[in-house]
Amino acid sequence: MPRIRLTASANSGNRRSWYKHVTNVDCTKTNGYAFSGDFIPEDTVVDIETGAIVIECVPRGSVKHNWKEGKVYKIEADGSSTLLFPDTTFDWRKDFLNFRDKVAELLAPKDKVQMVCSTCGSTNVRRDAQVAWNTDTQDWELTAVFDHADCEDCGGETNIEEQPLTGE
Ligand SMILES: [Zn+2]
Repeated sequence: MPRIRLTASANSGNRRSWYKHVTNVDCTKTNGYAFSGDFIPEDTVVDIETGAIVIECVPRGSVKHNWKEGKVYKIEADGSSTLLFPDTTFDWRKDFLNFRDKVAELLAPKDKVQMVCSTCGSTNVRRDAQVAWNTDTQDWELTAVFDHADCEDCGGETNIEEQPLTGE
């Protein structure tokens, strides 16, 4: 489980950045209450799962002309955080619905797929891969998946196709 320590993008006097680990988005709400999850204290070490979605509400502008910016990050396995939508600036008030829906999309469950043999349609397929020893976790970790594929049913080299998994 990655251990993170978040440092505010910007603080302005009494106006502080805040962080929340978002676990659910209520798209009927049009303000910060749309995001459920736990607040993460700034500059404090916390453990959080890989792939966690964290939002930051950043104070911007001057005391007189202030606004807030919404940022969203994905927590990586090494504890770093990747800023998502780096080319977009979300005004917390004016763009709130866009920001909310982008975060909701990130949390939406992905449709499951299956891998099948392009020759016979079997799901009993294998792909070559490479692992490397990780001395921290004391385990072999996947580092690469190669294109070469075999089908256990046709007994030979094949191409693998991705199909949506239906009926769940
Ligand atoms: Zn096959």
